[in-house]
Amino acid sequence: MTVPIPDLINTPDVGFANLLDEDPLGRAFWTYWFGASRYSKLHKHFSALGESGALATVLSARADKQGPVLQTHDARGLRIDRVIQHPDYRELEKLSYGRGIVGIKYQAEFLARHRAYRHLAGFGAGYYFAQSEIGLYCPICMTDGVGRVLERQPEGPQTPLYEMTIAHLSASDPEQCWQGAMFLTEKQGGSDVGANAVTATRHGRRWLLNGDKWFCSNVAADAILALARMPGGAPGTRGLGLFLVLRREPAGNSATIRINRLKDKLGVRSMPTGEVTFENTGAFLVAGENEGFKQMAEMLNLSRLYNAVASVAGMRRAVLEALKYGAGRLAFGRRLDELPLWRAAMADLIAEHLGIFALVFTTVGALDSADNGNEEARKLVRIAIPMAKALSGKLAVFAVSEAMEAIGGNAYIEESILPRLLRDCQVLPIWEGTTHILTLDALRAIHKEGSHEALFARIRLALSRAKKLDTGQVKARLDNDVSRLDTLLKLPAEHQQREARQWLEGAGRTFTLALLLENAVHPPLREACLAAYQRLSVRPSGVTPVCHGNPAALADTEAVLLDSAIRRA
Ligand SMILES: Cc1cc2nc3c(=O)[nH]c(=O)nc-3n(C[C@H](O)[C@H](O)[C@H](O)COP(=O)(O)OP(=O)(O)OC[C@H]3O[C@@H](n4cnc5c(N)ncnc54)[C@H](O)[C@@H]3O)c2cc1C
Repeated sequence: MTVPIPDLINTPDVGFANLLDEDPLGRAFWTYWFGASRYSKLHKHFSALGESGALATVLSARADKQGPVLQTHDARGLRIDRVIQHPDYRELEKLSYGRGIVGIKYQAEFLARHRAYRHLAGFGAGYYFAQSEIGLYCPICMTDGVGRVLERQPEGPQTPLYEMTIAHLSASDPEQCWQGAMFLTEKQGGSDVGANAVTATRHGRRWLLNGDKWFCSNVAADAILALARMPGGAPGTRGLGLFLVLRREPAGNSATIRINRLKDKLGVRSMPTGEVTFENTGAFLVAGENEGFKQMAEMLNLSRLYNAVASVAGMRRAVLEALKYGAGRLAFGRRLDELPLWRAAMADLIAEHLGIFALVFTTVGALDSADNGNEEARKLVRIAIPMAKALSGKLAVFAVSEAMEAIGGNAYIEESILPRLLRDCQVLPIWEGTTHILTLDALRAIHKEGSHEALFARIRLALSRAKKLDTGQVKARLDNDVSRLDTLLKLPAEHQQREARQWLEGAGRTFTLALLLENAVHPPLREACLAAYQRLSVRPSGVTPVCHGNPAALADTEAVLLDSAIRRA
């Protein structure tokens, strides 16, 4: 006779087969934003990357623990500067590049049908992969970024060099696929790119680059965009040219790119970030004096959006893990997700995620419109991209930390994904521009292009779409944002900088609230968006764990949000 053993473990086994399937609310958003017919055509791609995201969980954990190794010399003592990746990282590449995470955006058939939704489809599906692997999502970003810069050159993407490079960057076949990188940052500083000192000298039809780059993610990439100082050029960013460095072109070029060492990083450890010296490295000029930095900004726009999507993805994964855990873990004789304070804290996190999800993907949609010639959208993205990146990066760190606490000690242990998520998310407010640099970029867009007008107009549009709902509070917030900006812009320049970050955060919250109301018009999204709206409207952005207000009304929102955020069996 077997003696029944009481189940004292009380540790739910959290596992997923497909991260898209776990996300009923996400699917409702995609259906609304694409339209049911278009989404049904894109669903296969979303589902493939949802499955990749789930499969990546274990692979990523191992690739993170056994990160890349630099082999500088071969057995005969000759320099080879090779990065050896863990086999699981190679599998992750197959699950992402191999499933078209970049490639689909360049396929003629996809573009013929979905050009107007190119980024929304690319980022939307990629969001599910990034929920497991923020490290590799960085090279994916730069691969797409190099493709975008080359594609948008005035001489046209059909230029043989660009055509060949784009074909490789968008290939799904691992034998053909090239990965991208961007080398900007030097020892003297990353934000102040105008201080860059790497030199470019003409060498026949090509150029030779010389000098050190200090932070080079995906260091062994095949196609690198690098900034270098033009001979006799102006000081600052104006004198920088943008160059394409191909590792295999001219033959032997790889040997001129010295990888001095790999960084020992806090997070994103599966992906190699190196320190590099260019030694007469062959390069092709993409954009010269006065243009190089501007063209790089094009890549930065895209990479900042990738960063924002990675932030929302990290938040989503943390929330998902906590909710699944809370549904199976008991404390004081009740499941965690039955305990009032636990529910309140989780409802806030879900609301924060939902709000920033709407803001980030609305910005992605605006980039699609801008790329298709909409001038108002072009002005909007100039401010919405730095705003989305700044807000989402900070929120991701906060949310993952909160979710870790909501699970408790087991989430602090490396068998959980939470420690890796927390380490990985901490880079999101730093690279691609710190929160300060993004704030200053938004301020520049306000001064130079009047981008705030496009932002205010977009908020008003959202409110007009939500006119059957009570929009009074957001209208009042908007009036306040407008008048605060008016006052700010009258200050001396240095004081403007001091005030701008707080203004950006406040206006970002107003935009978020307006978008929640806009999406609440769609019946399948209504309850969740209104519940998130209700909580976020009484809660300062990302700083206080639990919101305040009418307790009974807020308790009602908990049931809606906790139910909407996961698939219930
Ligand atoms: C893991 C990792 C990978 C990276 N990969 C790459 C890569 O592939 N390619 C690449 O080019 N770079 C890369 N970077 C570099 C990254 O982009 C820079 O770290 C970032 O831009 C900040 O630059 P910095 O570290 O030199 O800091 P600094 O520019 O020295 O800034 C230091 C601090 O001062 C603040 N600051 C600077 N200027 C101002 C100002 N005017 N007003 C107010 N505050 C200011 C900043 O916000 C920051 O808090 C990577 C960084 C990390 C951590």
